[in-house]
Amino acid sequence: MSLRLGLDLGGTNIKVALVDADRLAEGDGWLVATDTVPTKADLGPEAVTSRMIEIASGYPQAATIGVGVPGVFDKKTGAIELFPNLPGPWKGFPLLAKMTAGLGRSSALINDARAFTLAEGTVGAGRGAHTLVCVTLGTGIGGGVMIEGRVHLGGLGTAGEIAHQIVVPDGPLCGCGNRGCAEPIAKAEAVAARAGKRSIEEVYAAVRAGDEMAVEAVEYAARYLGISLANAVALLAPDRIVIGGGIVQAGDIVIEPIQRALREHLTLVPPASVEVVAASLGPNAGAIGAALA
Ligand SMILES: [Zn+2]
Repeated sequence: MSLRLGLDLGGTNIKVALVDADRLAEGDGWLVATDTVPTKADLGPEAVTSRMIEIASGYPQAATIGVGVPGVFDKKTGAIELFPNLPGPWKGFPLLAKMTAGLGRSSALINDARAFTLAEGTVGAGRGAHTLVCVTLGTGIGGGVMIEGRVHLGGLGTAGEIAHQIVVPDGPLCGCGNRGCAEPIAKAEAVAARAGKRSIEEVYAAVRAGDEMAVEAVEYAARYLGISLANAVALLAPDRIVIGGGIVQAGDIVIEPIQRALREHLTLVPPASVEVVAASLGPNAGAIGAALA
């Protein structure tokens, strides 16, 4: 048995997965345990880190610990550069050093969207793909690229940000500082606002009920996500695209318009050569990917 622990640090919850790496190839029995613990993010970096160390201490059988984090960190030092959705002084916080010192075991950080990609590509809906592009739709839009079984991180670890490709020059301002990225157009909040609804869940319910404004809002977001994915196809020629995040529950209401928008723009490869599928690991994908990191 080669047990690895993964923690997925989110704004509301820390998701936990214990994975037996020796059973990954068998396709079952690899997920040993899962758990969900409140983050209490408002208590700040020190308290959140202590909480993660306490959780990991409950799994002494794990040889390694991976932490999926919702933002950008320095790949060399493991210090946090930007957590856009967690309160407190995270900038410069030496998370990896504190985790390693507190645990006395080998640990690693991975961006949460890249963790999602690693998990879906290894044991989820992306398994067996040669070149995989993953997108997670939620509060923000994360992404990742996996080529021949390895997540492509780039020199700084920032590769795979599908939704920060500019799709509308001088378009709406993005959290990253650019204008016209796909994220501010297609993230949950933007779609809900365009549809005149309070939440993305209300939008999907309205789409099912045939509400024209809701259908138009989803189509609008899908159009720009489709363009981002077509750009990714031009650059990477993936054979599979996995779409995940909370929206997967909405199924074809979301996947189908994105697929249609993508196919409209595929000129260099036969549309049928790029499969678009829903993620299969559910809300534990990030923790599983962190364990595999
Ligand atoms: Zn951006």
